[in-house]
Amino acid sequence: MPSGSWLFRRAMRLLLRWLRSCVKQGRSKPSKRLGELWLYSRLLLRSLCFSETTNSDVVVDSLFEPVYWLVDHLTRWFGVVFVCLVVVLTSSVLIIVYSFVLPTVVSTYPAPWATWHLCFGHWNLVMIVFHYYKATTTSPGHPPKEKCDTPSVSICKKCIIPKPPRTHHCSICNSCVLKMDHHCPWLNNCVGHFNHRYFFCFCLFMTMGCVYCSLSSRGMFVDAYGAIETYYQTPPPPFTFKEKVLHKSIIYLWVLTSSVAVALGGLTLWHAILITRGETSIERHINRKETQRLKQIGKVFRNPHHFGIFNNWKVFLGVEKRSHWLTRVLLPSGHDPYGDGMTWDWSPQRRDLVAI
Ligand SMILES: [Zn+2]
Ligand SMILES: [Zn+2]
Repeated sequence: MPSGSWLFRRAMRLLLRWLRSCVKQGRSKPSKRLGELWLYSRLLLRSLCFSETTNSDVVVDSLFEPVYWLVDHLTRWFGVVFVCLVVVLTSSVLIIVYSFVLPTVVSTYPAPWATWHLCFGHWNLVMIVFHYYKATTTSPGHPPKEKCDTPSVSICKKCIIPKPPRTHHCSICNSCVLKMDHHCPWLNNCVGHFNHRYFFCFCLFMTMGCVYCSLSSRGMFVDAYGAIETYYQTPPPPFTFKEKVLHKSIIYLWVLTSSVAVALGGLTLWHAILITRGETSIERHINRKETQRLKQIGKVFRNPHHFGIFNNWKVFLGVEKRSHWLTRVLLPSGHDPYGDGMTWDWSPQRRDLVAI
C-alpha cells in the first residue's frame, strides 16, 4: 500500500515532467519570462520533492504561501488606513470638545472645577499624542543579521538568522522582532521590546481620555438626544443650524468615546494582566501549552520572566527610583527599556530594583 508521501512525490514528478514537455513544445517561440517561470517552478518542485526535510507542514505552507502573501500585504496596506482612521477620529473628537464641551464647562462650572477639567484634559491629550507617536515611529527591535555571540534558541526559517529568546518572526513586517507581542494594525507597527511600553501607555491613556469625554459630555448627550427626539414633532421646534450641529456632534462624541472606552478598555485590561504575569501575548499561548504538557508528566511550569507582580511593572515601565513614577510614568518619557531584548539571564532582584 503506497504511503501518502510516496503518492505526493509521484504526483509532483509527473507535474514536473508535464511542465518540461509543455516548455519543449513551446520552444519554437520561447520568451524570457516563460523561461524564468519554468526555472522557478522546477526549483520549487525539486525543493519540495527531493528534500529529506520535506514533510506535510512544509508542503501545506508552500501551497498556502500566495494566501499568506496576500493577507500580509493587505494587512500592511490596511495599517496605513487604520493609522489615518485613528488620527481622523481623534481629531474629530478634539474639534467637538474644543468647540462645544470645553466652552460649556468653563462657562457653567465653578472656577476650581473648570481648572481641573482644563488641566486633566490637556495632560491626558499630551500623553495620548506622545505615546501614539512613539509607538508608531519606534522600531520594536530586531536581532542582528551578522554573526554575533548573543544566545539563541532557534533559527528563523524565513530570515535564516539565529532567534534570541522571546524573539518571533512577524510575517507582516517580514522580519524577526525582539520580545514580540503582536503586530498592531492600529499602529502599522509591530509591538516588541522597544515600543511595548509606548503601546500599552497609549491604550491606557486613550481609554482614560474616552472615559473622561464620555462622562463629562453625558449631561449634554442626554439634552441633545432629547432635542433630536423633538425634531420629529409637528411642528418641529425652531432649532437654529448651530444648535442642530451641536446636538448631532455631541451624540457622535458620546457614542464614539463610549464604544472606544469599552473596547479599548478590555484590550488594556488584557495587556495589564499579561504584564502582571511577565509574559507577552505570544508567550501566553506558549506558556499555556507548556503548563499543560508539564502537568501531564507531573511537573510545574515556571515562567522565567516573572519576577513578582510589582517588579514586573517596574521592569516594564522602567522605574528604578521613586521619582521615576512621576518623570517616567505620569509624564512623557522616551527612556529605553531594560536590557537589549536579546539576553534575559538577569533579574530585577540582582539589580536592586526592589529597593523602592
Ligand atoms: Zn525571522
Ligand atoms: Zn510586524
